[in-house]
Amino acid sequence: MNHLDKDLAQLDEILNQVQKQSSDYLSQLHSRPTTGKINPDHTAAFSDEGLGTLGSLEYFNKRFEPAIVASSGPRYWGFVTGGTTPAAIAGDWLASVYDQNTQSVKGNGDISATIEFETIKLLLSLFNLPEDFFGGFVTGATISNFTCLGSARQWIGKQSGRDFAKEGVSGLIKVLSATPHSSAMKSLAMLGMGSNNIIKVDVLPGNREALDVTDLENKIIALNGEPFILISSAGTVNTVDFDDFLAIQKLHDKYNFWWHIDAAFGGFAGCSPKHQHLVAGWEQADSITVDCHKWLNVPYESAVFFVKRKHQMLQMETFQNANAAYLGNPLEYFNYLNFLPENSRRLKALPAWFSLMSYGKLGYQQVVESNVDHALLFAKFIESNEAFEMLAPVRLNTVCFSLRDKNYLDEFLYRLNTTGKVFMTATIYNGVKGIRAAFVNWRTSAIDIQIAIDEMNKILTEL
Ligand SMILES: *Cc1c(COP(=O)(O)O)cnc(C)c1O
Repeated sequence: MNHLDKDLAQLDEILNQVQKQSSDYLSQLHSRPTTGKINPDHTAAFSDEGLGTLGSLEYFNKRFEPAIVASSGPRYWGFVTGGTTPAAIAGDWLASVYDQNTQSVKGNGDISATIEFETIKLLLSLFNLPEDFFGGFVTGATISNFTCLGSARQWIGKQSGRDFAKEGVSGLIKVLSATPHSSAMKSLAMLGMGSNNIIKVDVLPGNREALDVTDLENKIIALNGEPFILISSAGTVNTVDFDDFLAIQKLHDKYNFWWHIDAAFGGFAGCSPKHQHLVAGWEQADSITVDCHKWLNVPYESAVFFVKRKHQMLQMETFQNANAAYLGNPLEYFNYLNFLPENSRRLKALPAWFSLMSYGKLGYQQVVESNVDHALLFAKFIESNEAFEMLAPVRLNTVCFSLRDKNYLDEFLYRLNTTGKVFMTATIYNGVKGIRAAFVNWRTSAIDIQIAIDEMNKILTEL
């Protein structure tokens, strides 16, 4: 019997072992190191017969499993790394099992696009956004930014009667922004708009990363009525600063531009009454990017874009899978493959659907508010210890700090991450080298903050 037939015959045994390994991992997440030792050993021989699933699992466990780090655990504060809720894991597992190819609402005979529609509606409701957005699931905020800016580019063409999707872009598309995320720049490069073509808007004085609305209006006036794209921020990565959306809304009423908001994680301010003032006015944007694998705590790779329904045709012009007769007429019924970059996709919405349905609005409000509280708690330690300095105030969930003596900074971060107890990432803010701790994991508690503080104090005495 070959391994495929054998595996099919012992599928229960395989799933049971994976289930056991999964629950072991998840229950020990607290004590698993946040950094791993990578042994650069040989690459696997590719055998003729194969090992079978259980054989491969055993081999994987020997070689790689010990080096898997607790990036979904409560003390992985590098980048902006969310965890995985139990419901999201259930949804993710089932999405793999069902293996649907999520495309159309009707026509291809499966329900998955309907689940995606419903999940988008749940998310809009979570963020208190109106239903005049449609949306879809993509792999991350990078591709969400890319998707929204793709439609923005198409919109610019429309302003002078051109179809950039068909004709390509010649000449310059004006893009204004103050503190765009690197992925928005990358999207501009991928879209043929050129990341060097951004017209930088000033930031507000006083240690801010938010754009200066007066300078924005001056730069708009200088464009003399030429349509442009504005990339604004709901949560910058260093200091989680927010542009003033109520002020931008007024400019949006007055001038002709596509308004995009990168709300990869900052958008979650929208599901807490305590913090939603930070995103007030964002519902008027033309497009919004939100990451789900960050603060929604679903597994990688998951993000959504929201684009105003009035732009649906524009979106389709940009992403339509043209000239594929066998996939049907895109005008006849909605098919996701005409509205986002990917054609074939797994049922990406399901982990988010499960998690949203399972924990509800209040569940996410609690995750957001408790993460912010823990960021403040951690900041209190930084402020109270003379060895450290804050590089910016805590505006939401991220603590951006440094050592007063910058000579020790690299060594300090290296030693801290080598403890395997907590993980943070380096940054440069306003030309100053620092460290970021981003709190977006649903499991993080005050005990975790204390564990990190103890390790940091220990390293300070050793330096
Ligand atoms: C993380 C992040 C991105 C990029 O997201 P990916 O999921 O890594 O593609 C874009 N913008 C902001 C503000 C982010 O925090």
